[in-house]
Amino acid sequence: MSKRFLLRDALTQFPPYKPGKPPSDAPGLAPYKLSSNENHFAPLPGITEAVAAATQVPAAYPDPKSAKLVAEIAAYLDVDPSEVVPGAGASEILSALTNITLEAGTSVVYPWPSFEMYPILASARGAEKRAVPLLPDGRHDFAGMLAEIDDTTRLVLLCSPNNPTGPSVRTSELDGFMAEVPAGVIVALDEAYWEFATDAEAVDGLAAFRKYDNLVLARTFSKAHGLAGLRVGYGVADAEIATALRQVVAPFSVTTGAQAAASESLARVGEVLVRAKEVAATRDRFAADLRDLGFDVPDAQGNYVWIALDDEAAAAFEDACAAQAVAIRRLSGGVRVSIGADEALDRVRAVAREFAAR
Ligand SMILES: *Cc1c(COP(=O)(O)O)cnc(C)c1O
Repeated sequence: MSKRFLLRDALTQFPPYKPGKPPSDAPGLAPYKLSSNENHFAPLPGITEAVAAATQVPAAYPDPKSAKLVAEIAAYLDVDPSEVVPGAGASEILSALTNITLEAGTSVVYPWPSFEMYPILASARGAEKRAVPLLPDGRHDFAGMLAEIDDTTRLVLLCSPNNPTGPSVRTSELDGFMAEVPAGVIVALDEAYWEFATDAEAVDGLAAFRKYDNLVLARTFSKAHGLAGLRVGYGVADAEIATALRQVVAPFSVTTGAQAAASESLARVGEVLVRAKEVAATRDRFAADLRDLGFDVPDAQGNYVWIALDDEAAAAFEDACAAQAVAIRRLSGGVRVSIGADEALDRVRAVAREFAAR
């Protein structure tokens, strides 16, 4: 490692974050990006207007407390505003959670594969990373995670629905787990995709939050609300944890435009949820088609589908989609395809049929 500057040794331990690739050009084909789980619908009416109206004075700092948005989120969820912490995406809330709990000598337990930010954030705090492999069906191994918790553990991360594999955490699974986790250990439930879940047994994060003081929810306007480019999300936490989170979240991180867009979108949450269910219906058809072709597709509850493939097949599948101007996400153990326009999914279906015929 370079010794020119006094950088932290821990930087060598960071796993790289690989963002979803843009689609490659293919002559005559409209390009589609199905690699970042972005919302493919046009913005809801009123969103871009609300952003434009709110950002007339770019010289002015945003409201540092996002007070209006926080009040609206609290009313929507029926929680106290002191329990809502806004951030620049759920990513900032997750980062703040690692900041208030982790340091050298502590450990964090999380499922793997899951959201790629988890090991990066853990590395950033110098904590010991305890990644617990998922079960073969892509679900969290709660017994395995419990076995990894000891008196150094300060944080547990759960992802429901799990990105990239798809299943939601079930209420019974979470209840069984929470009964065994020490009450002082913070458990974060990352619900970035909760709006897309249709599994009747999927955990209701809000109900669980009311039940367990040490459970923190991380939610976002990036996915179902389609505001990823504006960076806004929030945590829902016991007021004491929320106060600690506010101490470490960067001041002014939620911009004026992001606050306005989130407010407007929340006012139209009924439409947001209808769209999410449309995405879910498309997802279910797509997953069923892939399973019919013989692919191993775990229960899909987000706005994406996981196709388990060995690494060689995954690379070939990604290349075949790229040749059709469709970017998908290749990760260790398979590929993840975000739900997007029908035309894009049909091209992936065609690639899948060709693979199945081999
Ligand atoms: C996209 C995503 C997030 C958060 O994204 P933000 O844009 O930072 O809100 C959090 N968790 C998971 C699992 C995600 O896939």
